[in-house]
Amino acid sequence: MTPSNDTPTKTAFVTGASRGIGAAIAMRLARDGFVVGVGYRSGEDGAKAVCESIAAEGGRAMPVRVDVTDPESVKDAVAAFVKETGGLDAMVANAGVVENNMAVFTGEEALAAMVETNLSGAFRSAKAAIKPMMRRGGGRIVIISSVAGLMGNPGQAVYSATKAGVIGLAKALARELAPKGILVNVVAPGLIDTGDGGMIEGIPPEHRAAAESLIALGRAGKPEEVSGVVSFLCGADSTYLTGQVVTVDGGMRM
Ligand code: NDP
Repeated sequence: MTPSNDTPTKTAFVTGASRGIGAAIAMRLARDGFVVGVGYRSGEDGAKAVCESIAAEGGRAMPVRVDVTDPESVKDAVAAFVKETGGLDAMVANAGVVENNMAVFTGEEALAAMVETNLSGAFRSAKAAIKPMMRRGGGRIVIISSVAGLMGNPGQAVYSATKAGVIGLAKALARELAPKGILVNVVAPGLIDTGDGGMIEGIPPEHRAAAESLIALGRAGKPEEVSGVVSFLCGADSTYLTGQVVTVDGGMRM
């Protein structure tokens, strides 16, 4: 949907927002007054449905195709969103993939897919946001990591490495971009149940049971329990938080 003249001034772009946690983040940001770019790679229908739900609630959003493994795609998608909306205030680098396998069985293709999407993709998304945010005089970048990046999960060696990697990325960016008024933080979700076909479905039952046994609150989280934290970090109340990792995991890792 095309924003009209009474577009709210704040805009946010979310990668991987066609489903799961990204979709919940897009919905929440729209509810909190942002015009939202709903990034999708293959899930165009999902992204359109998210935009329709946002419109039904009186918000504004547009689907934007972006493949974070492709530098040109990221540049073009952010440029198109900025052209359409007039600027960029928040970037949520959420797109991610996981391939669960013991390290000894993890092949080069899986290694490349996870590094390219989760780590290089987060870097590209953050990078694409810098100039538009500088033109706005500041902004917020939130990168979605995982408790896997803090704890290391069996069967997720590469995934854990990429999710640890984005923490270093965010901390360096936080220092580099603070003088420009751009705050950079990480949200590290725990076990989040996104429904059918979601990320935690591929976790072998014994590993899932072991992970669940560590959760103080005794249950998996919901995407909506992550999205509010992300929106806070993107919003006007977050002015003195940068370079931080906010763990949203029901007390799995303390
Ligand atoms: P889903 O698998 O449900 O959704 C992944 C999203 O990422 C989809 O929208 C997908 O787009 C998008 N995506 C995948 N590859 C690319 C790519 N190359 N370019 C652009 N978009 C891409 O994942 P979740 O919602 O569960 O996870 C979202 C984030 O949260 C991920 O970074 C994940 O690592 C992290 N996380 C998830 C946890 C969980 O328990 N669910 C726990 C901790 C962290 P499309 O479908 O359109 O192709």
